[in-house]
Amino acid sequence: MAHLPEKIIDFHVHLFPDRLFESIWRFFDKNYGWRVLHQIYYRECVAYLRERGIGPIVYSNYAHKPGVARGINAWNVKVLEEIPDTYCFAAYHPGDEDALSMAAELLDHPRILGFKLQLLVQRFYPHDERLMPLYELVIEKKKRMLLHVGTGPVGHEYVGLAHFRKLLDRFPELPVNVAHMGALEYQGFIELLDDHPGMYLDTAFTFYPGFEGSFNLGPEYLERYQDRILYGSDFPNLILPREMEIDCLLGYGLPQTFYDKVFFSNAWDLIGIGAGDRV
Ligand SMILES: [Zn+2]
Repeated sequence: MAHLPEKIIDFHVHLFPDRLFESIWRFFDKNYGWRVLHQIYYRECVAYLRERGIGPIVYSNYAHKPGVARGINAWNVKVLEEIPDTYCFAAYHPGDEDALSMAAELLDHPRILGFKLQLLVQRFYPHDERLMPLYELVIEKKKRMLLHVGTGPVGHEYVGLAHFRKLLDRFPELPVNVAHMGALEYQGFIELLDDHPGMYLDTAFTFYPGFEGSFNLGPEYLERYQDRILYGSDFPNLILPREMEIDCLLGYGLPQTFYDKVFFSNAWDLIGIGAGDRV
């Protein structure tokens, strides 16, 4: 019977300054009717996960509008200083005048792994010309992007497989994590892994059987791509218990190597590339 490795890395956690957390929880409630289960702030989030066997935590946040990335990133640097064994995908908005110089500075931080773009919220294309210098910088500095670029839970004109392909046409080797296994276009995203060695998928909020839009490919896909999948929870912005996702993955009964890689070693290798400092 397969089991979780002794230490787990969660590659998709959200930490925000308190006020922003509150406005996100209100937004989910108002727009999706989603009541976030764990309305707790950053220190409590970390403590909650650590009590449940999570070691390194890779968290992200994003700039929902121009003008806020610098403040969020100053907060990120403080959090990284305060809490050991945390890593961050920082906030970026291409509408900010000083965006690229800020990015260059942040990428020198050993525990900033790269930048998060939440295109559903930010509403621009992943192949937006304004982002090209950022991608070049990320490649040059051997860092990574984290993109919410899928059509789940709701889509609009800026997200989806076709737009992401355009980005990969331009940067076929871009080091990039696609959140939520690319939901809802699972098959199209997972097959991109064949030709794009820098690309990974994370499991966040995707393995909730019975929940509309959950992962719908067979376990053979998970096993075939086990070197390129990272466990992530989306904690604390969950409307269902995080254990459900872990139980669902364990329930596939895949070989132990799958669990060792997805819950730990794939992430450990990426942290090793992106960070000079694992402690
Ligand atoms: Zn997320």
